[in-house]
Amino acid sequence: MGFETKNANLRPAGNPVAIVVVAAGTSRRFGKDKLTEQWRGRTVLEHAVSAMRAAYPAARVALVVRPDRVETERDRWDASSVLIVPGGERRQDSVRNGVTALDLDDDALVLVHDGARPFVPVRDVRAVAEAAAREGAAVLVAPIHDTVKRVDSDGFVVATVPRERLVRSLTPQGFRAGVLRGAWATTQALEWTDEAALIESLGGRVATVPGDARNMKVTRPGDLEALAGARASRIRVGQGVDVHPFAAERAMWLCGVELPSEVGLDGHSDADAALHAVTDGILGACGQGDIGQHFPPSDPQWRGVASSRFVERALKLAAERGWRVVSCDLTILAERPRIGPHRDAMRARLAELLGIDAEDVGLKATTCEGMGFVGRSEGLVAIALVTLEQR
Ligand code: MG
Repeated sequence: MGFETKNANLRPAGNPVAIVVVAAGTSRRFGKDKLTEQWRGRTVLEHAVSAMRAAYPAARVALVVRPDRVETERDRWDASSVLIVPGGERRQDSVRNGVTALDLDDDALVLVHDGARPFVPVRDVRAVAEAAAREGAAVLVAPIHDTVKRVDSDGFVVATVPRERLVRSLTPQGFRAGVLRGAWATTQALEWTDEAALIESLGGRVATVPGDARNMKVTRPGDLEALAGARASRIRVGQGVDVHPFAAERAMWLCGVELPSEVGLDGHSDADAALHAVTDGILGACGQGDIGQHFPPSDPQWRGVASSRFVERALKLAAERGWRVVSCDLTILAERPRIGPHRDAMRARLAELLGIDAEDVGLKATTCEGMGFVGRSEGLVAIALVTLEQR
């Protein structure tokens, strides 16, 4: 359909991206499985996977879990997009199982992420992938602000360590798959903390990418709430306005609901002006042009289609850039039809299309007191404000 994005951002340096999320450890510190702690209806692990996929929605994902969790997790994830892989003894075995299961070409980029880091920002994930495409291996890091001391076995300070050259290592870490396989094939070492450490030990170069310091691991009860509250997010508001004339012999679709009305709306598709305004609001918020560009009225494939398809496509475009809708406020200017009796159904349908709660959808209607084309009942106007969030 000519709609798939060709944005170079989504394939750094032309290399396909794959994601390995490691979640095969036991979390003794938490007392129970920290990865199943919930925030806003999703587990830590679901947040971690979705944060990675927000950066690269087309990437193949290997989710590496404890062998006794494989069956449970397979029931929970869509098999067409997330491969559930049994983990090994150590973290390094789990990563290797994940990379092996993805069966990648040497030039593919693999991003290895901790399942306990739920809120990595999209821009950090992409920055690591881009650095890995250039350098072969890259890690996300954050500065250390506290003074660092070396202590002896009795707990006495031996030295104050200069921290200028010290950083905290975060995830994801990114590698060209060939670099990782080369390291596995040549190393004599038995154990390494992470794959960057393995490549360092072989004298390889690992680039650092400064990341958001709040991309922390959930390790203790209460961490998740604190991280959720502090996480970085970007907000954009998009506006959409649409006008359609009334026509006899046409249906009255608004917000994806067919309303009883003696006149309908004229237009190329089902002429649902409300959904057209919402579509433009979504596209506007993420800088992706307008509805006419993506669904030209001159294209016969859009004749008579349900406008929910425009909304779905706009949401997909937004998601490919890491944006999701958090709220929508819609105003209809019209002398008819009456909106009040149908408000709940319209809000519910719009909420369903946008993947948000009905209480995050505003729907208001006003007449124009007899003035202008709306007042003369020649047609109606829909105005949408759509709020998008990127984490
Ligand atoms: Mg329209």
